[in-house]
Amino acid sequence: MHKQPDLSTKRCFNHANRESVARCPDCARFFCRECVNDHNGRLLCADCLLEMSVSKEKQKPGILHMSLPPLRIGLGLLAAWLAFYLLATGLLTIPSTIHDGAIWHEQTTR
Ligand SMILES: [Zn+2]
Ligand SMILES: [Zn+2]
Repeated sequence: MHKQPDLSTKRCFNHANRESVARCPDCARFFCRECVNDHNGRLLCADCLLEMSVSKEKQKPGILHMSLPPLRIGLGLLAAWLAFYLLATGLLTIPSTIHDGAIWHEQTTR
């Protein structure tokens, strides 16, 4: 014999004088029609709905953390390339500044 959960005898968690119409699947508490909200086909209470939106916000940095290792490798490569680039341009610019430098001209004109 399958017995339907006795919702009619249960009272809303927020409204003691109201009969509950739904049970929140997350916190398993009973709520009246006013206290539950449809969320993707599930009737959730306001608390769980809020908690869900908060946990969704918390998940965002989690996704970022997952993509951090390849990002770190990319940054490492970028730093290595930048160091090489600075070294290469540094080696190129140093002789040219000596060539066009005022010290060289001062020595020749003197
Ligand atoms: Zn709930
Ligand atoms: Zn209620």
